[in-house]
Amino acid sequence: MAKYVPDIKTQRWVIISPSRTKRPYEEENSESKIQNSELKKQNVCPFCPGNEGMTPPEVYRMGTGAPDQPGWEVRVVPNKYPITDIHEVIIHSVSDTDDIEELSLEQVTKIFTAYRDRYRANQEMGQVMIFCNHGLGAGASLNHPHSQLVVVPNQINLDAVEMEPINNVVEENTNFVTYCPDFSQWPFEVWIAPKIKEKRFGEVTDTELPDLAKVVKDGLKKIQIALSDPLNATLYEAKHLVYNYYIYHGKNWFLRIIPRAIHRAGFELGTGLSVNVMDPTKASEWLVKAGKPEG
Ligand SMILES: [Zn+2]
Repeated sequence: MAKYVPDIKTQRWVIISPSRTKRPYEEENSESKIQNSELKKQNVCPFCPGNEGMTPPEVYRMGTGAPDQPGWEVRVVPNKYPITDIHEVIIHSVSDTDDIEELSLEQVTKIFTAYRDRYRANQEMGQVMIFCNHGLGAGASLNHPHSQLVVVPNQINLDAVEMEPINNVVEENTNFVTYCPDFSQWPFEVWIAPKIKEKRFGEVTDTELPDLAKVVKDGLKKIQIALSDPLNATLYEAKHLVYNYYIYHGKNWFLRIIPRAIHRAGFELGTGLSVNVMDPTKASEWLVKAGKPEG
């Protein structure tokens, strides 16, 4: 059971969630390492088709077949190690390795359809946060690409930035625009916003979903290309693409991608101020130059 503790001004909250410590890290310097190397030897991934019995019963699937049997294309299950009382895992595809950058546009559209549908299914329960941790350095505990959905009670004040003005545009299509806001806290941070404002994520239509999938996939590919340029490789530590993205939970939704090429240090932790070594105007120039990757 999660416990919510406010700071003395009740502006910020911490969630005390002991059940998170039992997570099955695949590569971690702890006792779980032994257990996980065992799992690896047996090649058992709870998110791969055929292993449906290893997760709690599914709450949603796209594709064919009976519940908790193979045939699915996107599968949603409750998290075995929840942060809050409602915590779901959205398994991106049957592939154990390919994520949004590599998956087909059709598959990415299915992932975003699942996000939208699960947002709708949970929105009466509280504030719905959808996020993706890609790569072990970004907090992912299992390699098989997946996202998470966490519901936070409405009375808990979330310390989340709201949509920033659109400038430094990287790409746009009929329904969405990709940009690097002047208020960028991280190098190559990328925001994706719908052209129609005042909406919640749950209001995204079926017609808009492929457009959304396209700009997210393009955005991640462009970040990957920009970060792999030797000029940036000297600045950033990431050898593999490591990132988080999340969808703003409230009105005026947007999707924010944060590449985790650098680490936050003492000054930032102590002051709440971010130091960004990459000017967002320059970042957007880099990303535009990264071309228009194939869909
Ligand atoms: Zn897998």
